Amino acid sequence: QVVKSARVMKKAVAVLEPYMESDEAGGPRERIVLATVKGDVHDIGKSIVGIVLACNGYQVEDLGVMVPADRILDTAREKDADLIGLSGLITPSLDEMERFAAEMERREVTLPLLIGGATTSSRHTALRIAPRRSGPVVHVADASRTSGVVRALLGASSASFVSENQRIQEAERRRTPRRARPLLDLAAARRRAVELSAFEPMEPAFWGRRVLRNIPLAELIPYVDWTPFFHAWEFRGVFPDLLEREATRTEARELHRNARERLGRLATDPGLEAHAVYGFFPAAKEDDDILIWRPGGLDEAPEARIPTLRQQEDRSGPRLAAADFLRAAAAGRPPAGGADVIGAFAVTAGHGLADLVAEAEAAGDDYDALLLRSLGDRLAEALAEWLHERARRDLGYGESENLTPEDLIRGRFRGIRPAPGYPATPDLGILRDIFRLLEAEGATGVELTENFAIRPAASVAGLYFASPESRYFSVGRIGRDQLEDYARRRGIPVAAAERLLRRHLG
Ligand code: SAH
Repeated sequence: QVVKSARVMKKAVAVLEPYMESDEAGGPRERIVLATVKGDVHDIGKSIVGIVLACNGYQVEDLGVMVPADRILDTAREKDADLIGLSGLITPSLDEMERFAAEMERREVTLPLLIGGATTSSRHTALRIAPRRSGPVVHVADASRTSGVVRALLGASSASFVSENQRIQEAERRRTPRRARPLLDLAAARRRAVELSAFEPMEPAFWGRRVLRNIPLAELIPYVDWTPFFHAWEFRGVFPDLLEREATRTEARELHRNARERLGRLATDPGLEAHAVYGFFPAAKEDDDILIWRPGGLDEAPEARIPTLRQQEDRSGPRLAAADFLRAAAAGRPPAGGADVIGAFAVTAGHGLADLVAEAEAAGDDYDALLLRSLGDRLAEALAEWLHERARRDLGYGESENLTPEDLIRGRFRGIRPAPGYPATPDLGILRDIFRLLEAEGATGVELTENFAIRPAASVAGLYFASPESRYFSVGRIGRDQLEDYARRRGIPVAAAERLLRRHLG
């Protein structure tokens, strides 16, 4: 409702503007500068925040995505801003936020700083961001709370809100986290790796990579998973239940109707393009690395080595690393009997989306802009699902599948497609290896930012494992020994690995 009212307001203001003396006609308004931090491209949540704030009478300056600290701070000064809001989705953005807070302090900017986005938390804000500066830093858990927080921060009783926030953060810093489960040594964890039971040599329909350009978007519509769409719009619950639940029924149904209608038009819009690249390669495990050979080049040195992380928490059962879903190499060579197959993929449904969003925004239609952003993500995920189905057929075992859209969403099929940044493969940095292997940039026009976000945002990439024993898991907490070992295998300084794996360290 807020997003829809924003559209009404903007269109009304556009009609009235020629008759108004100045944009101060409604009295001076407080200004807020919003940005997604450097290296991050995600902006759905931030767009909602911007709309909510604008509807509450604030003047919002949204600087977009991948914004360097200097530009945010310069704009805040030029516009005489009253508050700055930062957003981010990927783990490295936490670091950017810490650095931003330190930079505010250095430049003696005392404005309140809001922190939001999927990867952020009140704990990280209290422990790592707030201590970097003397001005207030407030974590906002979701967009619907923003206007309350901003009103409190900029209102008459701001001082008491700020000191209460400080008190809560101080308590958070003193709180010792739940006693963590002890960790196994990396060597001990490795001894508990999964041993694959069976080996069937596999012959995919083709080896190497294949590029698919301009995939018809209409084909992807049946593969759309609507639950994350509703989450992006801050609906709780699971689709299609939320279409029935009393509390969400009216709005959810209308949003779904509008979204399907918009998706139908988007699917035939020549302005939006979908491209994909995927491939199959001979592979084996060595330590916890995935060795990948050039097809036909099994006698040569591996073409790629992708490190994976192993569970170290002391629990019963095997301690997994994604590499376990391949059989072990023998002295750097494929195992006797042949190599396993690994797949890799990169898909995008984002080329052209930014222009469509910009058009909608220029027309004052925030509702449409947000629909477009969230549907772009849906199409990218649907394309990943569509391509995985095709890959399973290429691998042979998908031929006999007879799956409903729900089966697909629930992953009721053989094999997995772990995506970097998710719990089994948390290091986003392996995206660079995947991109290199697939020559993904040239094939699909996507690129990686310096913090490994894929650009445009409506894109997905990952690996395919074919083993019937492969499954999703969570790496969880890792020890110092693995951190150092991993940094060495990745060829990066330990401090850099620490930044990438922040959430997995004790
Ligand atoms: N249907 C969802 C797909 C995203 S969530 C959507 O439309 O948004 C499911 C995907 O997340 C999986 O296909 C996989 O790529 C990734 N994933 C989920 N759990 C994972 C894990 N534990 N490790 C790695 N990747 C995971």
